[in-house]
Amino acid sequence: MSRVIVIGCGGVATVAINKCCQHSDVFEELCIASRTVSKCDALAAKLQPTTKTKLSTKQIDANNLTQLIQLFDEFKPDLCMNLGMPYQNLIIMDACLICHVNYLDTAAYEPEDTDDPVWRARYEKRVKEKGFSAYFDYSYQWEYREKFEKAGLIALLGCGFDPGVTQAYVAYAKKHEFDRIDSLDILDCNGGDHGYPFATNFNPEINLREVSAEAAYYENGKWVRVPAMSIKREYNFDGVGQKNMYLLHHEEIESISTIYPEIKRIRFYMTFGDSYITHMNCLQNVGLLSTTPVMYEGREITPIQFLKFLLPDPASLGPRTKGKTNIGCIFTGVKDGKEKKYYIYNVCDHEEAYKETASQAVSYTTGVPAMCGAMMILKGIWTTPGARTVEEYDPDPFIEALDKYGLPKRESYDPVMVD
Ligand code: NDP
Repeated sequence: MSRVIVIGCGGVATVAINKCCQHSDVFEELCIASRTVSKCDALAAKLQPTTKTKLSTKQIDANNLTQLIQLFDEFKPDLCMNLGMPYQNLIIMDACLICHVNYLDTAAYEPEDTDDPVWRARYEKRVKEKGFSAYFDYSYQWEYREKFEKAGLIALLGCGFDPGVTQAYVAYAKKHEFDRIDSLDILDCNGGDHGYPFATNFNPEINLREVSAEAAYYENGKWVRVPAMSIKREYNFDGVGQKNMYLLHHEEIESISTIYPEIKRIRFYMTFGDSYITHMNCLQNVGLLSTTPVMYEGREITPIQFLKFLLPDPASLGPRTKGKTNIGCIFTGVKDGKEKKYYIYNVCDHEEAYKETASQAVSYTTGVPAMCGAMMILKGIWTTPGARTVEEYDPDPFIEALDKYGLPKRESYDPVMVD
């Protein structure tokens, strides 16, 4: 008996909506609301004949609180799945509190305008005090924890694969495999090939901001900052093969290190091919990754947004992408007084993901956990109110749902370690 609004109709939302429509008993009515309503209409028209979920669509600018409140008042959702951009997380959370709606997203808040002086001042202070320099951090959304608690609502933060499933893997490892976790390496490998010399697998603006930023990892209670792409390792991934991977800062390191302070070292690695890195360095060197607007022929343009316009739409990569993703967590720690290693991961095939949802595996591995997280809230399985990340909830029913609905776990008790 639930009503859900999905904000956004890009790659991730398309997968999540496809999957929600496969569970009409839970997702009875679903409104797809996004900036370009023609995309919502096309998806609803395609899916409606295949599902009992009643679909509707709405044009919305998620930067506009009045529009959000009007939409929520009209549709009366139980849950809003924010699968658009992380820039609107806070305003959508505000609308949820005003209209008494649960909330879910897949990426931590970051501002669109990183030159905003109020945001900058707080950012500079955080870089000094906390010691990592990414534009995103959880502090803004954690400030909503009590407000959601008091309202008896859940705001489930970062419920994609990474962040999202990776944190459920941490909670699962702690619950079933370890008395104490000592180290964690999160490995995100995309072995897919789309045939373009350069394209990003999800929103180019968010992806390129993340990858070109200074990297960081967490060790002995402190952040260690290192230049972007300066730590490189090779790893042989199940289902994919040997790949180069690079250390990046990633948002779940912040929440995992806060919730599991026992973990002495947390690192995040992502694979990139040589062509991706050469292109990215070149784009950065010529200023096209900049988020600071410039005047061009009498008009203000933001270089990274112009670049996004030129690059292939990630949603268009689906039919061209072959190969697999492999994302997971390698742990060391102690169980019953003995040291042990443990690796839990998922392998997802781009072509199979496309066959099922008309999207490639990067969108699939994000959209399926978003649907499963929504299911945990709507079925009353996860009930603790507040603005919380995934590792704060019981991992078992969530991982069971992932196993059933498209992202089964694989495990190894003797993984090759990253040095
Ligand atoms: P896309 O760019 O494909 O889709 C974004 C959607 O949001 C588009 O439909 C866009 O509309 C809509 N949108 C943008 N601005 C507004 C606005 N102001 N009002 C209403 N709608 C708006 O992105 P992805 O689907 O690739 O990514 C979605 C989210 O998932 C991102 O936040 C990304 O960071 C996150 N992500 C998380 C991952 C994880 O594992 N946790 C992995 C990958 C992505 P329009 O069609 O008009 O452009």
